[in-house]
Order: sequence, then structure tokens, then C-alpha cells
Amino acid sequence: FSELERIDPEIAEITLAELDRLRGGLQLIASENLTSPAVLAALGSTLSNKYAEGYPGHRYYGGCAEVDRAESLAIERAKTLFGAEHTNMQPHSGANANLAVYAAFAQPGDPVLAMSLPHGGHLTHGSKVSFSGKWFTPIPYHVDKSTELIDYDEVRDLALTHRPKIIVAGATAYPRLIDFAKFRQIADEVGAILWVDAAHFIGLVAGGAIPSPVPYADVVSATTHKVLRGPRGGMLLCRAEHAKAVDKAVFPFSQGGPLMHSIAAKAVALKEAASDEYRAYASSVVDNAAAMTKALEAGGMRAVSGGTDTHLALLDLRELGVSGAEAERRCEAARITLNKNAIPFDPAPPMVASGIRVGSAAVTTQGFGTDDCAAVGALIARAVRAEDGTTAGDAELADVAREVSELVARKPAYPRQAP
Ligand code: PLP
Repeated sequence: FSELERIDPEIAEITLAELDRLRGGLQLIASENLTSPAVLAALGSTLSNKYAEGYPGHRYYGGCAEVDRAESLAIERAKTLFGAEHTNMQPHSGANANLAVYAAFAQPGDPVLAMSLPHGGHLTHGSKVSFSGKWFTPIPYHVDKSTELIDYDEVRDLALTHRPKIIVAGATAYPRLIDFAKFRQIADEVGAILWVDAAHFIGLVAGGAIPSPVPYADVVSATTHKVLRGPRGGMLLCRAEHAKAVDKAVFPFSQGGPLMHSIAAKAVALKEAASDEYRAYASSVVDNAAAMTKALEAGGMRAVSGGTDTHLALLDLRELGVSGAEAERRCEAARITLNKNAIPFDPAPPMVASGIRVGSAAVTTQGFGTDDCAAVGALIARAVRAEDGTTAGDAELADVAREVSELVARKPAYPRQAP
């Protein structure tokens, strides 16, 4: 770090300011986490220098013996941890992993059945602003209006009508468990590939906190930087019969040289995820999300679907008369980072939104338990209700910010080493 300070003090200062931000507030964005120093060390290593187009043992360049060892470790660790027949560790991100799934299993124009974006699906599940909606024919399914759970009857009806090439299970803002067996049944009935996009919850699967999609899916895509707590990146797990198609879809179809420092850091995160300590963390992530959600409900918010089984919850703020955008802004003023989020059947436009999404992964990493998370829920509820721009509201937000500082000081992110 001293070298960075010498060469580029501006960037050095920014990295320290970001560390202060992480230490000084609550990180509740459900797709974020706090990676370990070991993962960060691999990310900052000279493995970044190496070109290694291809796969271990079959590269286009020489000098790949060491990076081959790193990628092979990542592959073997992922296969063991998830019980997968084949894995590809090269996708640069979740969206890249998803592009590879389309490339492996569909042709342009093919129908793909996936969760509607406003009901919790991801942009790569058929949004018109992404390749998925531009190059393929998205058929969106929804949650049931009364239960706010996936409407499996609708999924089956749409599958029978449209005969999709791929059926996608998995979402960005769905707090409940997904019935993979039911999706498998529907996919088999219409001869579709079942793809589970486990970007959000693969880290809970790794720790045994929720059921695994691997036995059911043809292919599972994931990110490595959310609950899993690895470097920013993607990953694919699939059945052996699809190995060739998946590998070719990543390289050379959609990517060039792999990010070897990132793949090494994925290997480190997977080693960490195989530990007992990680299993305890994954189960705490779920307990903490439930505790936070209960406190938010007590603060006048409605939990979409009535609660959570995972690391995230969606809260409907309409009864408080506060929009998602206002809530996000007020929380930010109180050092609480979370995001506004559309709720199913949301009457508000996406940039306003009627809800917020919270996640428990980062605070669990820094050691928070259920009591801490109940306290976090109560602080969010106070911040959301504080009318910013008024004297009383701003004073309340300052009070909440002070309490947030006290809370995070007790269990800090990236604790300072004793001198
Ligand atoms: N799939 C799902 C379900 C996601 O939630 C996300 C990101 O939030 C992605 C894919 C894309 O991941 P990335 O941002 O790494 O491209």
C-alpha cells in the first residue's frame, strides 16, 4: 500500500476513504459483502499479469503452469463444495456467466421463460435493455398477487403454451426458497433446459443453509461476490453432458483471457466456504435476515411474502407513506446503505419504487447476531420515518447516524490490527 501512496496518492486516498465508509456505517445491500484479507491478497497478486486463454492444460500461451494450478484448485473446490459434475470458474461476472448460458443452450430468437424483472428477476432474464431481451424472446412469469410467492401454475401454463428452450429459476429480489423440484418437473414436461441463476443465494447453498439447486438444474450460474464472500466474479456449475457447450460458451464465445487473479481469489473463497466457520456464518445470515425483518415489520413496514427464508427481505413502505427512493436517501443520511426496490405489482415507477431491499450478509460477516440485527431493523425504521429537510427529521437522522456509529464500532468491518 505504501507504493500506491507514493505513486498515486489520489487513488490511495480513495481506497482509504472507502474503507472508512465500510467501517463507519451499515452495509445492507443484499448483493454485497466484505471479502476476507486472504481473498483481497489473491486479488492484488501478480496472477493478474498472466494471459491464459483456454483451460488448465489446454492454453494458447506458454508459462501457464502456475495459473493452471490456481484454476484447477478453484474447479476442484467448487465441484466438491457443490457436488457438481462440471464447473467453469472463468466468467468475469454474473451477467457474463448468464450470457454464456444463453450461448450454450439457445439460439437468437428462442423463447426463454424467466421471472419478470419487476417481480424480482434480473436484467439478464429478459429485460429489453439487456442482450437477453434484445436477442431472445422473453416470456415472463410472476409471483401470485396474494401470496407473493412464485406462481408455479402460471410457470407451467406458460411453459406448455410457449415451449421455451430454457426455463430460468432464480432472482434478484425474491426472499423465499424456490421449489427446484417443481421447476425440474415443468422443464421435463416441455423438454426445456433448467437453468438456476443462483447469483444471490449460492453462498447460502455453500454453507448448507438452504437446499441446493445442483441436483435439479442442467446448469447453475452464480456470482462469487455476494453471500459467498469471494471476489467480484461469476461461476457456472453444470451436468457433465453440458460441460463442452458451457466451456465453449465462456471461452472463446463470450470472453477472452481469464482474470487469473480473480480465479485464484475464487479458489480462496471456496476454501473458506468449506469451513465449519463458514457454515455457522451462512446459517447466521438467514437468522439475521429474519431478525431484521421482524424489527422492520414492528416499525410499520410490510414484509413482501410475509418474511424471508434467505439473506434478503423486501419491505413495502406504502403504509408509512414513504417511497423507496425517499427511504434510501434518508437511510444514507443515517449511514445505512440499502437500496430502493420495486415490490411486486408496484404502482410506483422503478426509480421511485414502493419498497426497500435489505440483506444481512455483510453485517453477519462483521459479526452481528440476531440482537444486533433487530437493532439494525429498528434504526432503519426510525431513519425511514424521519422527514429529511425538516429540523426534527434531520435531528432524528443525526441521532440514528450516531447510534449506527456506536453499533458498528462494537463489531467493526475490517477491524484495525492492534499496533
Ligand atoms: N443474476 C442475478 C440473479 C443477480 O442478482 C445479478 C446481480 O445482481 C446478476 C445475475 C449479475 O451479476 P453481476 O452484477 O456480477 O454481473
